[in-house]
Formats: sequence, C-alpha cells, structure tokens
Amino acid sequence: MAGEAEQAEILTPDEAFAQLGNETRVEILQHLGTAAEPLQFSELYDRTDVDDSGQFNYHLTKLVGQFVRKTEDGYTLSRMGRRVVEAVLSGAVTDTPALERTEIDEPCEYCGAPIEVGWTEGSVRMFCTECAGQYGRAYDGGTGSDAPKGYLGRLPLPPAGVRNRSPSEVLHAARIAGTLEVYALSEGLCPRCSGTIEQTVSVCEDHTTGETLCENCQSRYATGVSFTCTNCIYKAGGGGGLALLTADAFVEFLVGHGLNPVGVDSMTAVNRAHQNYDETVLSTDPLRVKYTFRIDGDSLSLTVDESLNIIE
Ligand SMILES: [Zn+2]
Ligand SMILES: [Zn+2]
Ligand SMILES: [Zn+2]
Repeated sequence: MAGEAEQAEILTPDEAFAQLGNETRVEILQHLGTAAEPLQFSELYDRTDVDDSGQFNYHLTKLVGQFVRKTEDGYTLSRMGRRVVEAVLSGAVTDTPALERTEIDEPCEYCGAPIEVGWTEGSVRMFCTECAGQYGRAYDGGTGSDAPKGYLGRLPLPPAGVRNRSPSEVLHAARIAGTLEVYALSEGLCPRCSGTIEQTVSVCEDHTTGETLCENCQSRYATGVSFTCTNCIYKAGGGGGLALLTADAFVEFLVGHGLNPVGVDSMTAVNRAHQNYDETVLSTDPLRVKYTFRIDGDSLSLTVDESLNIIE
C-alpha cells in the first residue's frame, strides 16, 4: 500500500479540480490538515459530517494518491494536499472582512499627505489623500480600469491577513508579503507555483511629468516592468525601479543606512526608499534609464539597460 502512495500519478489540472469538487473531500483534507498526527479510517470518519461510511470511503479513496497519503499509521496529507488546505484556510473567514478606505498615520511617499488604505477582493489598496498618486489605471491581473484619484497601487493579501489587524497593520502585513514576492520575481521565480517568470519592460515614449499623472501611460513613471509566469496565471508589475529591489548596489545602499532589507521592522522604510525615486530616460533605443533612490538626503543612481540590468 505504501508503494501505491509513492507512485501517485500526476493529474492534469481538470482532473485535480474534479477530484476536489466536493464538500466532503475538502472537509476530509481540512481534518487531516488540522490533525496533529495521521488519522485512522474510523477517526477520520468520526470527524466528518458524513453518515454513510460507504460514501465516505468513496470520497476518501478519490483523494488518496495526489492529495492524501495512506501510511501504516493512518491517513495524512501529501504535499499537494497541504497546499490545498493552506489555500482554503487563507481565505477562510467567518465574515468576509471589509476594510473601508481609512486614513492611517503614514505619509504619501510623493507628497507627504496622509495616505488611506482599504481592502477588497484579496488586495490592500493604497491612496494618497492629496496628490495624483502613482497610477491612473488599476490592473487586477489583466483588464485595466480607471483608478480613483490618488491611487498608489495594490498589494495582494488573503482575507486571513485582514483579521485582527488594524489598518496600519494590514498594510504592514501586505508589504511583507508583497516584498517577499518581489524577491522571488527578481530571481525569475513565480511566488505561487515556482515556475519561470518572464519579465517585460515598457516605456512611455511621450511621457509627461507634473502635478498630474502622464496623459499617455496614466502613470507616474515612464518605465514599467511586468512579471508573468510561464506556467500559472500569476501576473504582477509596477514602475521599472521595482526590478532593482534585490540589486546588490541597492541592498548595500539600504544596509548602509541602517535598513535591513529582509527585516520586518524596516519594511516600511525599505518600501518608501524603493518606491519614490527619480527616473530619467537617457535613451529609448537602446533603452537606458537612470533611477535615483534617496534615503536621509543621500542618493544612489543606477543606470539600467533594456532588461533593467544595471550597467552603471
Ligand atoms: Zn501624495
Ligand atoms: Zn507616460
Ligand atoms: Zn506561476
């Protein structure tokens, strides 16, 4: 029997969805996920809301292999089963959390006015209460829509991240999660599926700067970077400077100013240093851009090529 579990066949995505498209099966996974040790058939059956052991056995058998391992000590989750339970629990909240746009005690990195944070549909969104913000268009994975004035972008955060946290804490949590994603992206790794990330760089050739966002690209910065997974549906992006978060020179700049790039306490300061930069497009063909970052009055200028690799 142990051999059967080890040789779990690889399911196609449709097969995997079909196997999970049933309440009892998801319930079985959750019980196995929260159990301290492997469960025997009878223990697992007692914990679920099914009255018919034949039915129960049928559903359990469907899960064994890909999602559940059957060992001598009982049933336990496979790695894939754990992933499913993690995903289910990240969205599991008794009441759908709501965080209306709320002003917090943190200044906009561009103009210093207070910012507001709100949470809807799995993302924390940030807005400046005074200036035009960073983006005039909002992208949720592909289709863009006009963003409310002052839009500073969004950071993904599952519903569980909103629970028991103040608006400032919600933003902090989202920054930690978002920064970890950027670390993976900068190394070409998808933070969801570990597939390979493709990076594309865009440049607005008619960029205007001033009080309002550029009329052509609807953005504060002329250069943008987007990351697309070649395996799953993951997409993310932002201003071109985003791609420099893990560059040696930028990390040295942070550390030299007492900011730990992976430290939770300095996450807000790291984000501020990283988001508010000056951008000069030196040439568009070939693309050469100079980004200047600032911390405490000191500055670091990095010139990059069309792939956002630092050349100076
Ligand atoms: Zn502002
Ligand atoms: Zn533009
Ligand atoms: Zn992926």
